[in-house]
Amino acid sequence: MSLDQFRLDGKTALITGGNRGIGLAIARLFGEAGATCVLTSRSQTPGLAALLEAHPDRYRWVQEDVTDPEAGARLVAATCEAFGRLDVLVNNAGVAANGNFHEFDDAQLDYIMGTNLIAPFRIARAAVAQMLAQGGGGTVVNVGSISGYVANKPQLQVAYNSSKAAIHQMTKTMAFEYAARGIRVNAIAPGYVVSDMTKGGIANPDWNRIWTENTPMGRFAEPEEMATCALFLAAPASSYVTGAILVADGGYTTH
Ligand code: NDP
Repeated sequence: MSLDQFRLDGKTALITGGNRGIGLAIARLFGEAGATCVLTSRSQTPGLAALLEAHPDRYRWVQEDVTDPEAGARLVAATCEAFGRLDVLVNNAGVAANGNFHEFDDAQLDYIMGTNLIAPFRIARAAVAQMLAQGGGGTVVNVGSISGYVANKPQLQVAYNSSKAAIHQMTKTMAFEYAARGIRVNAIAPGYVVSDMTKGGIANPDWNRIWTENTPMGRFAEPEEMATCALFLAAPASSYVTGAILVADGGYTTH
């Protein structure tokens, strides 16, 4: 046993939504852990640009809308072209929208499910096919949510919550299917994390109070606190862990 088991030297990771928030934190940590990384998103950010400029040999960015049905195939091809292989997939890109169930319109439903469920499904399908073709196994880390377990309050977000519950189940079922072939599939289920996704709620005094009061640790997470969870699940340190949903929520779901 050695701390090297928390490293990703010689591994290549594909990280969706790697330009900001949780995805960018994962990209930074995976790079520090020795991985080469392909990051994808629709837009650039200053944080992403700085990372690419500082470590041109370690990171590539591919502009992609993950909801495009061909995105998975293109991303896997781009990863193999850049670094010769694909060992780790982090399905992180996601979107949220609020609304009453009885008024939730189809466009929003398609947007949430298309980004949070269908896209990760297709991208993981392409990634697993590549891992099987390469031999040598691999790891998939899906980004779920406490919203896969509970109804958030005060905001109503039935489509988002349903998409994250589905990602948890996709994680377990993929883990079952590929366990014997050396591909481990796990998920993280974050509580409230400071990011663009939550900044509106954090700035709203009522939401902020309710979110904080319902989090026993009494604070929100930083994206870096999710990155360490993702690294554990991606790295050999979690060699006997598959089909797990690692809840990292400051205690939100304990009550
Ligand atoms: P952000 O809004 O900061 O980041 C979302 C990321 O997803 C961005 O990189 C964005 O890039 C990317 N993305 C969204 N849609 C697409 C698309 N169609 N194609 C490509 N990339 C896309 O949020 P977080 O960092 O907080 O969220 C990351 C993940 O964590 C999500 O899956 C979210 O559901 C989950 N999560 C977040 C929590 C939180 O409290 N923040 C709690 C629980 C789970 P771009 O817009 O440039 O395309």
